[in-house]
Amino acid sequence: MRLIRRGDTGPAAADVRSVLVTLGLLPDRPEAAGAFDAECETALRTFQQRRGLIVDGLVGPDTFRALTAARWRLGDRVLFRSLSAPIVGDDVAVLQQRLLELGYDAGRPDGIFGVRTERALFAFQRETGISLDGTCGPATLRALHQLGRKVVGGRPQFMRESEILHHRGPALLGKRIVVDPGHGGDDPGHVYNALTEARVVWDLAARLEGRLGAVGVHADLTRGPDSGPSEVQRAEFANATGADLLVSLHVDANSNPDASGVATYHFGSGLDDSSTVGERLAGLVLREIVSRTGMVNCHTHGKTWEMLRLTRMPAVQLDLGYLTSPADRGRLADPGFRDVVAEALLVSIQRLYLASDIDPPTGTMRIPVAG
Ligand SMILES: [Zn+2]
Repeated sequence: MRLIRRGDTGPAAADVRSVLVTLGLLPDRPEAAGAFDAECETALRTFQQRRGLIVDGLVGPDTFRALTAARWRLGDRVLFRSLSAPIVGDDVAVLQQRLLELGYDAGRPDGIFGVRTERALFAFQRETGISLDGTCGPATLRALHQLGRKVVGGRPQFMRESEILHHRGPALLGKRIVVDPGHGGDDPGHVYNALTEARVVWDLAARLEGRLGAVGVHADLTRGPDSGPSEVQRAEFANATGADLLVSLHVDANSNPDASGVATYHFGSGLDDSSTVGERLAGLVLREIVSRTGMVNCHTHGKTWEMLRLTRMPAVQLDLGYLTSPADRGRLADPGFRDVVAEALLVSIQRLYLASDIDPPTGTMRIPVAG
């Protein structure tokens, strides 16, 4: 699609404005109706920040998708599982959130009406005695509004994922983890002279794969050393493996050479405050890498990027340093550094499966090699 940006006029710009007005981010000024002006750009940036999107003030595919979804309030339309093209919108996300609060497993509140949402809705209808059609119409909406919360604490998705984690036991043995080295094939990612993001993260992925194998974890890589599948293909691959976790590996870059440090990302749409296993792992990975390498801590953030949104298991993206920073670049080029990071990733994953009372201090844990 063509980017919609400041200075644009016409139907597309008018659409963007009208959504931002509906959301209360922009005053309704009829004289400005078709104009993407400075005020509109500021409102768009606020929207992007709240929704975990890249804050650039431009309407590209991701922002367009989020704006389209944001038009819908629960009750605006009948919701059901459409087999041709799934129904997508904030109304679906709110429905999923509500079902989760009531104790029904609607999966990640991603705003896509899929099989799990339908199954949760059927279960809800069965238990509340509404006609069983898997459709969220007026009767179901009324029942949803009338019922109190079964799950209190406001973080149902977190509790559900934690429960699964608990059920599968504290050991790493037998777990399946998808490691996703970003880019590859025709897409080198960020490039600095001979150093490419695709190569660096491939090497890191291979080191992590070896370590995981040594402790009895089955690791699947989303690509080979020279291939570069799309984000959607990677997510579909990960879902098909039925993995317990996904770790996506990237490196950042910036026009400012002073920008440096490590950041981690988990799924977060800004629609609810639910914390997930992904968020916990993102925190552990960041903590472990910062303490072992002394890199600048650029924190953990909720995002709605494709790999985080389309994957069904807890997923974390690591942005390991800036290729444009001389200090970070020196680290990334050093195989010893990549070994330390692979170790930090392994330890973070191990910590995730350990009970908190036996959680040793950060940076000290060593994993014994099995066998
Ligand atoms: Zn990247």
